[in-house]
Order: sequence, then structure tokens, then C-alpha cells
Amino acid sequence: MKDLLPRYPVHQQAVATTHLNNAQYNALYQQSIEDPDTFWATQAEQFIDWYEPWQEVSNIDFKTADVSWFKGAKLNASYNCIDRHLPTKANDIAMIFEGDEPTDDLSVTYQELHDHVCRFANLLKDRGVKKGDRVCIYMPMIPEVGYAMLACARIGAIHSIVFGGFSTESIKARVLDADCQVVITADEGVRGGKIIPLKANVDEAIKDCPNVHTVVMVERTGNEVEWFEGVDVAYTDVILNYPASCEPEVMDAEDPLFILYTSGSTGKPKGVLHTTGGYLLYAAMTHKYVFDYQDGEVFWCTADAGWITGHSYIFYGPLANGATTLVFEGVPTYPDASRFWQVCEKHGVNVFYTAPTAIRALMSLGDELVQNYDRSAIRLLGSVGEPINPEAWHWYYEIVGESRCPIVDTWWQTETGGILITSMPGSADMKPGSAGLPFFGVKPALLNREGEELTGKAKGALALTGSWPGQMRSVYGDHQRFFDTYFSQYSGYYFTGDGAKRDEDGYYCITGRIDDVLNVSGHRLGTAEIESALVLHPAVAEAAVVGYPHEIKGQGVYCFITLMNNAHESDELIDELKGFVAAELGKFAKPDYLQYAPGLPKTRSGKIMRRILRKIAENELSNLGDTSTLADPSVVEHLIDNRIIHE
Ligand code: ATP
Ligand code: MG
Repeated sequence: MKDLLPRYPVHQQAVATTHLNNAQYNALYQQSIEDPDTFWATQAEQFIDWYEPWQEVSNIDFKTADVSWFKGAKLNASYNCIDRHLPTKANDIAMIFEGDEPTDDLSVTYQELHDHVCRFANLLKDRGVKKGDRVCIYMPMIPEVGYAMLACARIGAIHSIVFGGFSTESIKARVLDADCQVVITADEGVRGGKIIPLKANVDEAIKDCPNVHTVVMVERTGNEVEWFEGVDVAYTDVILNYPASCEPEVMDAEDPLFILYTSGSTGKPKGVLHTTGGYLLYAAMTHKYVFDYQDGEVFWCTADAGWITGHSYIFYGPLANGATTLVFEGVPTYPDASRFWQVCEKHGVNVFYTAPTAIRALMSLGDELVQNYDRSAIRLLGSVGEPINPEAWHWYYEIVGESRCPIVDTWWQTETGGILITSMPGSADMKPGSAGLPFFGVKPALLNREGEELTGKAKGALALTGSWPGQMRSVYGDHQRFFDTYFSQYSGYYFTGDGAKRDEDGYYCITGRIDDVLNVSGHRLGTAEIESALVLHPAVAEAAVVGYPHEIKGQGVYCFITLMNNAHESDELIDELKGFVAAELGKFAKPDYLQYAPGLPKTRSGKIMRRILRKIAENELSNLGDTSTLADPSVVEHLIDNRIIHE
């Protein structure tokens, strides 16, 4: 196989100024593995303000799926994200809000954040919300989504954010699963110039949720909505009646902070439960070290609050560190596809963190859209959500980052609470396409099918040995499912569901979900590897590869490809691409079928739903499974109509 991974040395300039250099990373990593409890206790004292210390640092048993960190210690997450910064940062900007329209923005200082959050907390209390109650948040990306989260944290309520693009059915399922009795929403959302009827969706959803007694509605557009006296509360009208101070509830480190349902690219959503102390420490610490966050910088994570990335790296991590975090309401392509770079210029963004799906989409539209804006303030770029194929990596590095900004390709999951594998700036070389090295305290293992640990350079199922403070603690209301999903496959390990390769330097390259690994004529092949090869071709913007049963080879390779704007569909191109993959990866990997796909079925967070594509490739259309989290269901119809029917 051709080497797709040249090395990019640590940037010399970065080394001089980063929090950690290579020697420091190595020493700290070593300590974190050899004596985790001492390591984490030291970090916990440094990053978090505690009301009372813990009785034990950790208590971990992967055989029973029991994980606890800092049990007995007391803290409040909202206090840590706000109040403790006030003596020095009351007038510093906590949040920059950038609206859907480029003319719409707002800054919120730490003092203002404090006042908003306290008022909101008092409103919730007034509606009877207490410690341990679940509150559903279904909001656009406006500052109030942050106020709502922190208000819950302040009074010890458990928030469950449902992405504002999800449908009525998704809200209903999540409200019922967590038995939320309060829903916080807005009249309408605005994204990419389009209006989303949030309040109406909530009204519809809670018809079947008898326990919901309160719907708090923030005004966003001011358009008329249906009103239910006794249930609905007009936030905007009443909020100033509530006092701007509210004593934070004293929480145990192991008290739940939030529930977040995973995006569902692999099946029925799970209510991932995170607790307070370990999660907050891990979010804050990874935010500081992975993004090398320096005081005063503007940090922009483009995720939505409805994803774990939004929880950890728009709100909890940055705010715990007293950072300035940017909250963006819009989409990368509105009013035009230079929106990201226009916002970077406007607010002097220093650290920019986005997803490969956005990078690939923008890459296919040309470099000028980027180059028209000043990106000189950007110092570091990040990627999350999927493997970033080398082609997109290079574009991100050379065009967006002008070959001067390190890229952190961050591998993690809703379940892990924060980043687990990446190459930290200043302490590790970057290798395009490879996430990199483990974060402190993280011990990855590669397992073969027999569950044996592989050593050295290897390829296998990615599991983790031992815990880290940000680890999820349970599936809400179903601890057995927690055990079954993550600990039953390989005894004593947390199984991630992903496959990975480790190279001679100990770098991990994520090859995709294990379910997505193909076995072609006895060769095990990650779909991500074939996809990476396909997008190296100048005509291909995006590719999704799945297997289908093949009599001779075991599995055949079926590819869906989206072309670049300036490329044209033709049979010659199909042949060329087949040959191209064979040349890149080897003859055995040569695709059997290539189907043109103007759009691919994606979750709302931009991930390809390969399980649906698998059904199309297998011509098994009777049961496509849960499609309620698809961003655009019409894409699937098109693919079905144009599928290639084979023997
Ligand atoms: P579900 O678990 O419900 O199917 P999901 O796995 O897409 O949904 P997330 O927790 O948001 O939900 O995503 C985590 C997964 O995303 C990882 O397990 C991995 O497959 C992929 N991923 C995230 N970041 C990276 C990365 N930097 N490189 C490669 N893969 C990544
Ligand atoms: Mg997952």
C-alpha cells in the first residue's frame, strides 16, 4: 500500500509557546499510566474548585461496568464555569454569539453570563425543578442554550439536549426515555435563512408526554406561536423578574450532570449519562492541552449544542477555563460558502474546530472562498467526528491554515466525554489521516478477534484498558445496556466499536467502525481506507463504501461517490476510479460497483449512515431501520432509485 501518511514535524514556533513540549508530554503521560490516581488528583486540584475533597480518586470495575471518580468530593459545574472567574474576569467576554445573519451578533461577559444563568436557575426553581430532575433542552444555537445548560447545572437538574434539527418523534422518544418534566425551547429557530418551528414541534411531541408540566419558551423570531396557559412560560417576558443571584447547589462528583443521546448512526439512540466532577475535569483539561488554549484567545467549535462536541468544547471545557467561546447559530454555506472564514476574520478566531464533512464540502467549492478572508489570527485547527482523509487534511492545512497552523485530529465519542486520541501541538508530529497519540491516562489496546491484545505495529478492534475521568457512567435507566454495549465483547476492556491501526511510532489511525470493516477475499479492509483512496482522485468530493455478500470473495465493495462541482458523471470515470483504488490499495480492494450519489444519507451531525447504504447495496429495502435522525431523507430515495442491482 502506498504511504498516505508523510510526517509533519512539530511546528518549531508552536514548541516555543505551547503548554507542553514533547518531553513534558512523555513525562506526564508516563506518570498518568503508572500512577493514575496521583496524576488525576493533582489535575483535579489544578483545574476544578471543590467545596470538599474526595474520599477516593477512582473506583473502576470493567467486569461490572462500575466507574466512579472523585466520589464524595463536592462541586458545582456552573460555579466552576462562571463564579470562580468573576474576581478577575467579570468584564471579559465569555461568549461571542454570531447569528444566522452576518449582521447579528452579541457579546456576553462573565458577569452577564452569571446574571443570566442565575435568573434562569431561579425561573426553573419557581417551576418546581429540583436537584436530580431531568430537563429537556430543544433550542437553536443562541446564548440562551448555554444559559439553560448552566442553569440546570446550577440547581443540580440533569439536562438532556435534543438537537434543534430533530423531529417531533425524536423529541418525544427522548423526553419519555428520560422522563423529562420540563422542556426549554424557543419560538422558532433560524438556520441558513430557514425557519424551524421549534415550539410547534415541542407542542406536538409532548401531546404524548403526560409528565411534562412546563415548557419554557425563549423568544427568537417573535413570530406567533400557539400558547398553552398553565404549561407555557414566556422566558423573555418574565426573566427580568427573577433575581440575578442563585446559590449553586452542592453536588457530588458522581451526581449526574447530563444525559445525551448518541446520534444513532448505528441504531436506537442510547441515553449516555455523564456525571459532574470527572466530566468537567476532563473537558477542561483536554480543552486546555489539546487546543493549547491560551488565556484571552477566541475559541470556536462549530458543533451544535446538541452534540457532545458542543457540550464539551463550546460550553463546559472552554467556560471552565475562563475562555472566550464562540456560539454560532448558522451553517457553513449561508449566506454563502465563505461564512466560516468571514466569521473567523470578524471575531479574530484563534482556534477553529470543525468536522471533516464540513471541510470536504467546502473544499469542493474552491479555494477562493477561503482566501477572500483574513485568517491570520487562526493559530490552530481541529477536526472531529470522522476520520479526516489525507486529501481533506492537506486542504485544511495548506489552504485554510496557510501551512502554518498545526491540525489536531481528535478521536473521541459521546461516551468518552472528551478527546482521547490526538497529536497535541508542540508535543507530537502530525501525520495526515492519523489521529495520533493517547491523551493522559488513556491506554488504548488493539485486539484481534480472539480478544488478544496485539503489540507493536498492528491493526484491530480499538478498546481501552482502564478508565479516565470523562468516561460515561451508564446508559440512563439501563445499566445492563451499558455493560452489554461496551464491556461484554472483550472482558476487562471498554470496547469503542471502532477499528484502528497502530504504526511504529505508536500513532493510532482510526479505520472506521468495526461494523464497517469489510472482508474481501480474506483481506480485512476498513471502509475508511477505500473512501480515503477514492477522495484522493480530483473528481471525487466525498465517498461512502459498504460491503455486500459476494459468493466468491465473501464481501464485495460497493461505493457511493459524490463528485466535485466541476466533474461530470461518465462510465469512463467509473472505470478510472476502480483502477485508481486498485492502484492505491491493491487489486483486492478494487470496487465492484460505483454509484453516483449527488447526496449521501447523513445524520444531523454530518456522519454517513452506512447501515442504510449497506441495505441499498444489498438490495434489502424492506427494513431500512430507524431513519428519524437523517438530515435529509429524500437523499435515500434517490439512491434507491439509482441503485445497481447485482446478482
Ligand atoms: P452512535 O454511537 O449512536 O451510532 P456516533 O458514534 O456517530 O453515533 P458520536 O459519539 O458522536 O456518535 O461519534 C463517535 C464516533 O465518531 C467514533 O466512535 C468514531 O467512529 C467517529 N469519530 C469521531 N472522531 C473521529 C476522528 N477524529 N477520527 C475517526 N473517527 C472519529
Ligand atoms: Mg458511537
